[in-house]
Amino acid sequence: MAKKIIITIDGWSSCGKSTLAKQLAKKLGYAYIDSGAMYRAITLFFLRNHIDWTDEKEVAEALEQIHLHFEHNEKSGQSEIFLNEENVEYVIRDLVIAEKVSDVASIAAVRAAAVAQQQKMGKKKGIVMDGRDIGTTVFPNAELKIFMTADIATRVERRFKEMFEKNPNITIEEVKDNLEMRDYIDSHREVSPLRKADDAILLNNTHISMEEQLNFALNLVKELKEKVS
Ligand code: C5P
Repeated sequence: MAKKIIITIDGWSSCGKSTLAKQLAKKLGYAYIDSGAMYRAITLFFLRNHIDWTDEKEVAEALEQIHLHFEHNEKSGQSEIFLNEENVEYVIRDLVIAEKVSDVASIAAVRAAAVAQQQKMGKKKGIVMDGRDIGTTVFPNAELKIFMTADIATRVERRFKEMFEKNPNITIEEVKDNLEMRDYIDSHREVSPLRKADDAILLNNTHISMEEQLNFALNLVKELKEKVS
């Protein structure tokens, strides 16, 4: 497509949003932004600096000290997040962060700061961003919105496999509890709760392969291109 668009991918935890978003961005030559990484990096900063996030003033002061940016890693071919010049792409995937991130992401001031930066990144379009509120709050006018879901058992199994590789002590119950807890907090919070935008296309990938889901999304892009040309 000559005209660049914005593609949003929202959905429940561990549905494979980032896998699809990365593949789609690569195919289209677009930038990929993992908005969840931003909330995770903010959580890391809060934990390391013992920020009391129930205190509005402390949160506001902490947010002023947080600078996030993404850099493309040539070796891995991935975009990685930096917190105040430190590459934190790998530490933020820890269960310690996953246990607190949804609480931190429920704070209005945290969301305002993250959303403002996300909207700036989308100014030039040509972007695929995944998260929970991208199609509803960050880019309500995005040209293509996908909302992903999958059975809880499938999601737990996928996330367990991924986390077990890094931490063989992790149990399947811990992973399941964490996914259920995050989904509950994310969909019940006051500010920008997780929900499908009315104009988002639902993609349930419980029984389809990664290749099939990529083709499904590429077809949506193609249909859109035919409509506008
Ligand atoms: O996508 P990921 O699972 O890494 O996101 C971690 C957490 O960040 C989510 O469980 C959610 O609490 C929060 N998040 C959010 N809004 C987004 C992206 C992530 O609230 N757009």
